[in-house]
Amino acid sequence: MRVLVVEDEVKLAEAIRAALRSEGQLVDVALTGEDALWMASSTPYDVVCLDLNLPGIDGLETCRRLRDDGVRTPIMIVTARDAIADRIAGLDTGADDYLVKPFHVGELRARLRALARRGPAHLGTVLRVGDLELDTATRRVRRGEVDIPLSAKEEQVLEVFMRRPGEVLSRLDLLEGAWDGDYENRSNVIDVYVRYLREKVDRPFGRASIETVRGAGYRMVDG
Ligand code: CA
Repeated sequence: MRVLVVEDEVKLAEAIRAALRSEGQLVDVALTGEDALWMASSTPYDVVCLDLNLPGIDGLETCRRLRDDGVRTPIMIVTARDAIADRIAGLDTGADDYLVKPFHVGELRARLRALARRGPAHLGTVLRVGDLELDTATRRVRRGEVDIPLSAKEEQVLEVFMRRPGEVLSRLDLLEGAWDGDYENRSNVIDVYVRYLREKVDRPFGRASIETVRGAGYRMVDG
């Protein structure tokens, strides 16, 4: 088993490395998110142990970029920040588990082993905003227990929203996220797709999860 530990506190990184090595695992340490990105893209790790609070790009952004780059290695977030919002945000960006500092090293080892056993079979990420779910592997969209059939483009636009819940997204953000290069003079297409999505993921359920932000764009909330 080969583990990538992303941790900027050198002493803690060394302690984790020593603990994992003592049970025969191979351990590489990245001190920044940027290092983690290139290491994970060039080496097949069985599991990534990722600190949230990093200099440069933080752990959540590192996690998001790893998934966007197609890295499917199981990721465990380790964080001193035990606010529930951070945990949810971590899982929403594609992490598989989290552990709050301070932790017992035995628990860290056991949880990493469990994650590594899941292995690459864990192909997708389930994005969640409230009870709305999008499984990025199967492309299945559900609200609560109800499946919602969407066109491929509707799903892509929804995925852009669901990867950045609570953020105001401009029409350009949405175009860049869901279309290839060829989208000049098409910003009204976003308004059309937002209308389609509201008809499918909100209106039948009496919800309003896609807010219009005047002069700025749209924002997905647990509405
Ligand atoms: Ca840190």
